[in-house]
Amino acid sequence: MAGNSFFILGSSSGLPQAERATSGYLLKTGTSLSLVDCGGGVVSSFLRRRLNPNDVDRVFISHTHSDHVCELSLFIQLFHVNKREKPLELYLPEEFIEPFKNWLNAVYMFPDKEQYKITFHPVTDKFEFKSDLFNLSAHQNTHLVKTKAIIEELKLPNKMQCFSYKFDVEGKKLLYSADIGSLDDIKPLVDGSGFVVVESTHIDLDDFIAYAKEQSATNFILTHLGTDEEIAALTEKTKAASLTNIQFAMDGMEVGL
Ligand SMILES: [Zn+2]
Ligand SMILES: [Zn+2]
Repeated sequence: MAGNSFFILGSSSGLPQAERATSGYLLKTGTSLSLVDCGGGVVSSFLRRRLNPNDVDRVFISHTHSDHVCELSLFIQLFHVNKREKPLELYLPEEFIEPFKNWLNAVYMFPDKEQYKITFHPVTDKFEFKSDLFNLSAHQNTHLVKTKAIIEELKLPNKMQCFSYKFDVEGKKLLYSADIGSLDDIKPLVDGSGFVVVESTHIDLDDFIAYAKEQSATNFILTHLGTDEEIAALTEKTKAASLTNIQFAMDGMEVGL
C-alpha cells in the first residue's frame, strides 16, 4: 500500500495463539517504519511480509509484558547479523531502560559496541515525539496498576508504566490503546481519532459496543484477540449491535491513513 499506513504484525492477546503473533504493529510513513511493540512471533511476521529490517528507524514500546516486548532483543540481534549501519532509536518505558540494557548484555549483545548507533529514549506520561513524518504522544494508563500490591509487598522498583500512543500523521489521527485498565483510560483520547486500535482483553464488551455506537465517526479495530471461540463470540455481539465502525484485527492487515 502506498502512502502512510498502520500495519498489523501481531494481533493475539497475551495468551499466545498458533496463527497469530502477539502484539506488534508498524507505522509506515513513506519508506520509514516505526515498530510499535514487539511481542512473540513479531520478527517472523515482519519477515513473512518481505519487509526490510533496515527500514525500521525507531521502536516504541507500550509496556513490558512479554506479549509486547519479548522479541525486541531478537530484532536487535537481526540488525546485528544484517550488519546494520543506520542508527536506531528505541523509545522505552523509562522503568525498562536499565533492565533492558542488562538483558542485552546477558544475551551477549552489546549496544555500545554495535557498528550502528542505538539511542535509548525514556518514555514517561505525556512524552511527545515530533518529526517531519508524524507526531506521537504517550499517555500513561492504568493497565499495570492491578500489580500494585505485589510490587509494594516485594519492594520492587517497578513503576507500572503502560502507555497508550496517539499518532498524528499529516493530520490523520490514530490511537493505539496498547493494554489498558478499562475503556475509561482511552475515552479522553479518542476524540478526533479516525482510527482507534483497541485491545479487547481488558475492556467490558457491552460498554465498548455502546461507546462505539456514540463515536460513529471513529473506526475501531479490535485487537489483542484470544481463541477462535472468543473471536466468534465477539463477532456475534458486534453483529447483533449492527455497527459498521468495528473491525477485527488480523496479522497482515493494513490500515491506510
Ligand atoms: Zn498484552
Ligand atoms: Zn499487558
